Amino acid sequence: MIFWGIKSKTLREGSFNDVHCEYCNETETYMEYTFIQKYFHLYFIPLFPLRKKTVVYCDDCGVEYYNRKIPKEAAKKLNHIQDRFPIRTPIWTFSGLFIITLFFCWAFYQSDKHEVVEGDYVKNPKKGDVYYTEFKPLLYSTLRIDKVDKNNIYFTYNDTSVIKYTKVFFITGDKYYSDKKGIFTRQKLERLYKKDSIISVTRK
Ligand SMILES: [Zn+2]
Repeated sequence: MIFWGIKSKTLREGSFNDVHCEYCNETETYMEYTFIQKYFHLYFIPLFPLRKKTVVYCDDCGVEYYNRKIPKEAAKKLNHIQDRFPIRTPIWTFSGLFIITLFFCWAFYQSDKHEVVEGDYVKNPKKGDVYYTEFKPLLYSTLRIDKVDKNNIYFTYNDTSVIKYTKVFFITGDKYYSDKKGIFTRQKLERLYKKDSIISVTRK
């Protein structure tokens, strides 16, 4: 289950006096105010900010006003306060977005790096390299290199194949390889890699 929701954080509190409360009709009442930032969280990590909320509390009758319901005089005072000391959306409310962006940059960098390494493996194959192949559409298996010489790559076929690529990593143990041997030229290996028949390469 994904755990997410909305949380609030008090940005500033304060008070002013001599304002009219529309509820108790007191004309010189003392009021307390709170500026609140709402934000969306995922597993308690702030993801992005939502709107701000302003609450004003009348000390005489105890009524609470929110946002647009705040009486004119009080709203005017709040505006003055905000003009002098602007209430900004705290940067930490974007933490999650920042983390996600970092993660994608990292993943992108890794996949790029991976590509370079694999390309090098294919150009310069070595004994023990394992090639993950899609030898028929949606049928995956592996082959393992036994020997390499100037022109050719000698390998053993995996006896097992799977219909999901993610499962192919479970059939790499020694017991899956018999003595079904094969030979490719180096060019053919590179061609298969470019064609995506070879999906991935690992080297120990
Ligand atoms: Zn009041």
